Amino acid sequence: MKKLENKVAVITGANSGIGLATAKLYLQEGAKVVLSGRRQEALDEITAELKGDFIAVKADVAKPEDNKRLIEEATNAYGKIDILFLNAGIAPVAPAHEISEEHYDTLFNTNVKGPILATKEALPHLNDGGTILFTNSIVSQKGFDGLGVYSATKGALRAYQRVLTSEVKSRKIRVNSIAPGPIDTPIYGKMGLPTDVVEEMGKGFAQQVPLGRFGTSEEIAKSALFLASDDASYINGVELEIDGGLSQI
Ligand code: NAP
Repeated sequence: MKKLENKVAVITGANSGIGLATAKLYLQEGAKVVLSGRRQEALDEITAELKGDFIAVKADVAKPEDNKRLIEEATNAYGKIDILFLNAGIAPVAPAHEISEEHYDTLFNTNVKGPILATKEALPHLNDGGTILFTNSIVSQKGFDGLGVYSATKGALRAYQRVLTSEVKSRKIRVNSIAPGPIDTPIYGKMGLPTDVVEEMGKGFAQQVPLGRFGTSEEIAKSALFLASDDASYINGVELEIDGGLSQI
């Protein structure tokens, strides 16, 4: 028996990295998946590549109207939603003395406002007993230079999730999150840093991880499957660190 047979999953940030690996695994496990991302060309590429029952929807999570349309397109295609995976996020770098209002707004609109408004739109269409999953980060527990606003967005999201967990309890909806450590995804190429700086930063991260390496998107996807499935039926309100031990030492 597949773990997500006949479940409907909506995944944001599904055209790349962690979201894409999770979408592939959910499809393998029998889910009907609504994949969403910002770039149409990336959505077209994965539409040509993926097998299974899915639709791809272009939506910018920072835009309230796009979150509304994403949920409308998902319910028009598949009816009620069982799994809402709010994973889209960005991590541009700016040290404290260089933080601009635009840097702040872009990060908070994408990483905080986006998942909060997508949740609001989805709640009436989520099945009771369904699950909401977020992608946080261990950066809200440890300080990494240049990631002040990014870290604040993930900390804000974690605080919001505690309230949400309580607010949806009467509907038996489970709210959980994954907090990746350094994971080998395209996000590092989008931080606005030169390649050699990113490579040095990567080496530094890997050295700090007890397991001595970056994780893979597939390793995160396995936990995103576990938390969304009935295997995690009594797990609620947690943030699961998937970081080779980095946040624990
Ligand atoms: P990624 O490969 O860059 O994927 C990020 C995804 O988010 C992409 O699909 C991207 O779509 C989407 N996205 C970004 N801004 C968006 C917007 N405004 N509207 C809609 N979609 C948007 O990076 P990733 O590492 O898989 O990141 C996924 C999540 O993991 C993020 O929340 C990130 O903060 C978190 N995380 C990553 C790491 C790591 O080391 N990789 C560590 C901790 C946490 P487009 O490509 O179309 O823009």
